[in-house]
Amino acid sequence: MDDWQQILQHSLRTPEEIAQRFGLDVNEVRKIGQAFKIQITPYYASLIKRKGDPLYRQVVPDLAELAENSGEDDPLEEDLDSPVPSIVHRYPDRVLFLVAHSCASYCRFCTRKRKVGDISKIHPRYIEDGINYIREHPEVRDVIVSGGDPLILSDDRLESILSQLRSIPHVEIIRIGTRMPCYLPQRITEELTSMLKKYHPLYLNVHFNHPDEITAEAARALNLLADAGIPLGNQTVLLKGVNDDVETMRKLMQKLLTVRVRPYYIYQADYVRGTDHFRTTVEKGLEIYQGLRGWTSGLAVPQYVIDAPGGGGKIPLIPEYVQSISDEKVVLRNYTGELFVYPQVKTPKRRRSRPQPPCFVSSSQRV
Ligand SMILES: *Cc1c(COP(=O)(O)O)cnc(C)c1O
Ligand code: SF4
Repeated sequence: MDDWQQILQHSLRTPEEIAQRFGLDVNEVRKIGQAFKIQITPYYASLIKRKGDPLYRQVVPDLAELAENSGEDDPLEEDLDSPVPSIVHRYPDRVLFLVAHSCASYCRFCTRKRKVGDISKIHPRYIEDGINYIREHPEVRDVIVSGGDPLILSDDRLESILSQLRSIPHVEIIRIGTRMPCYLPQRITEELTSMLKKYHPLYLNVHFNHPDEITAEAARALNLLADAGIPLGNQTVLLKGVNDDVETMRKLMQKLLTVRVRPYYIYQADYVRGTDHFRTTVEKGLEIYQGLRGWTSGLAVPQYVIDAPGGGGKIPLIPEYVQSISDEKVVLRNYTGELFVYPQVKTPKRRRSRPQPPCFVSSSQRV
């Protein structure tokens, strides 16, 4: 057994362990555990400094998860875009390929709370069906290997999936989405990275939500991945009491760049059952975006998106930098709030109806 598998085996799992470690009522923990899977790696547990801190909130169960009317099981309606159980095909040219249903630790705010950790959902046939689906759909040029956490699989199982994907000529790029560098950085070994780099072009998106998660161990893991030529992106979820202030987010984004990770998305928290206590207002997200753009490196500014309930996909939210648009000029607001004018190119008079520029549509709030 590898080191990382041993560490994983010593994760906090039982209601008794969790209750004892964090001074909670064991019956309450048991009740939450019946609804949603609970697990915390010893590594991540060791990073928690005190009850209720930003790392604690992400993994330690809270009775608020059992609140009534607190969201939906599948708000993104992924199940409706799922032609076979392991595939979500929502966009024209790319699919999510769900190859594992478990994770090293379980995020209390997980969008796929209804699915992760549920052993009954694992079936080797699902992987095969997913590969066949992709093979039969030549429009799929980008496969996002996700889960659960795909790096929970052994190197051999993962390699079997990657090599099958690579044998499909129309699959141009492969992406892996994982939280391992955050929850169990020991999972990133030289054996793993030398295997992964055989399947380039391969991208990897990690998931860090707080600067304190970027430890020396995490940096070592990210460094190994980057040295294998794997472009690294980060997805962050905006979470109340974890990272819902400009200072924390700016530090997180800047720290990610120092370990060669490019911030990719900040997600507005999804409307998922059992996660209402993590949701912030959308104004908070816009405020954070404005606290990044212009104030720090453009590389440190991810896109802020809402994954629209009802299966609408990711929709970017951008604060109002465009004040007005006319045939003569565009009035713009910069990051400090000052106004600037950009003169429009002169359009010939005879063109009566001019198509509206997309930015006019998006900045209109009259709907
Ligand atoms: C997020 C997501 C993708 C990938 O979207 P990108 O914007 O290309 O990163 C693909 N399919 C589904 C269903 C998704 O939720
Ligand atoms: S690592 Fe990802 S899939 Fe697993 S619990 Fe966290 S958010 Fe959900």
